Amino acid sequence: MPATPRKFIVGNWKMNGLADSLDEARRLADALEAEPTQARVALCPPATLIERMARRLAGSPVEVGAQDCHAEPGGAFTGDVCAAMLRDAGASLVILGHSERRDRHGETDADVAAKVRAVVQAGLEPIICVGETLDQRKAGQAETLVRTQVEGSLPLELKDQAFSIAYEPVWAIGSGLTPTIEEIEAIHAEVRAALTRFGADPATPILYGGSVKPANAVEILRATEVGGALVGGASLKSADFLPIVRAAYASPPISGR
Ligand code: PEP
Repeated sequence: MPATPRKFIVGNWKMNGLADSLDEARRLADALEAEPTQARVALCPPATLIERMARRLAGSPVEVGAQDCHAEPGGAFTGDVCAAMLRDAGASLVILGHSERRDRHGETDADVAAKVRAVVQAGLEPIICVGETLDQRKAGQAETLVRTQVEGSLPLELKDQAFSIAYEPVWAIGSGLTPTIEEIEAIHAEVRAALTRFGADPATPILYGGSVKPANAVEILRATEVGGALVGGASLKSADFLPIVRAAYASPPISGR
């Protein structure tokens, strides 16, 4: 029987965190070092903290990622950061296509695909976010929308590369609302089908994101095809994030693997 894939639990700090927040990251790493960690764990701080966090967490079970990058490898792009710079700072992962970038910065699927290409070329691993708005869900368009986003956001260069998809319903992010387990499973099945058509490794994790908390993590992480979680607010404090990481161990194998 193949080994159960480790669930992937990723914290997205968004535009939060100053130097003293690194103590929280270190507390998380200390706790995970003291127990047999059965999940893959990463924190994605703002760009200003990547290098310092990578130093504080060096050798620990917690990987460090970024939250976005520019699609070009360098040049006259004032204020932007390219993938090679993130790698140079110590990041190994990059979140791309987060709904806050798609919505507030007008990023299209084609923009996301270009960024994914840049990240892969720099030797980093992308976490590609997709998800519907409440209006799209109410209109019965959630599955179609997410399928279109997955198909449009994956460049051919991603074939044979390690990556993850994060399904994050826009209306669940930071709202305290979550879809039902059946709704999560329906979208994850749609994403898996799109990944299969793309030719992705069947073990490519599909994370769920949107108001994951210690109280709902076990139930969500044991749902079919939920390969991990992308966590915003509850990743800022190790006391909240740790129980979510531990919930990953409480979950049975992802079905269909
Ligand atoms: C996110 O922004 O990726 C997210 C999932 O946020 P929250 O957990 O706060 O809903």
